[in-house]
Amino acid sequence: MNENFKGKLFLIVGPSGSGKGTVIAELKKVFKDFVYPISYTTRKIREGEKPDDVYHFIARESFEKMIKNDEFLEYAIVHSNEYYGTPKKDIVEPLKEGKIVVREVDIQGFYSIKEIVSKEHLVSIFMKVSDLEDLKKRILRRGKMSDEELQRRMNSAIKEMEKASECDYQVENKWGAIDECVDEVEKIILNER
Ligand code: 5GP
Repeated sequence: MNENFKGKLFLIVGPSGSGKGTVIAELKKVFKDFVYPISYTTRKIREGEKPDDVYHFIARESFEKMIKNDEFLEYAIVHSNEYYGTPKKDIVEPLKEGKIVVREVDIQGFYSIKEIVSKEHLVSIFMKVSDLEDLKKRILRRGKMSDEELQRRMNSAIKEMEKASECDYQVENKWGAIDECVDEVEKIILNER
């Protein structure tokens, strides 16, 4: 698919609560000329989230219609129950124009995109959290959640963390040290762009 890509896609991978969203929000302030595609999801909007910022929140039927119309570069069912998908045109077009594109995805999204976008146009950065108690605190800090949902997210996190070494870079997000983590990601991007 990527014969005529000129740009680079940076994927931020890692479990829920590892700080991917925070890192991308900081990158947006620094790298204003990058493209930050908005994904689609069927999960409910959380308190404090803005629609059409990180996600377009849509109904299951609408998502399934988009799947049928081949509108996703990749999509996945995350945490066993909700759809998440990256829109094809918002990624492919900027890559053809030579732009830098940055998006967070779960590990399944990374695997799918790795099959479609060749190495020279793709950089993957895994955000690690070594302490599971830390991770639990971060997930809970985002808002109310049932015990089952918390457990689902913790289980996905443990599984995702085992895959960290498959990414090009690993960045550790230590409790209270998000700035260092953002600096590290910025350095990687500047080096690779
Ligand atoms: P959350 O519900 O916490 O916003 O996201 C749950 C997980 O889905 C996170 O790991 C997040 O990075 C991932 N995710 C967000 N957007 C996409 C997407 O477009 N595709 C895939 N495969 N995963 C996504």
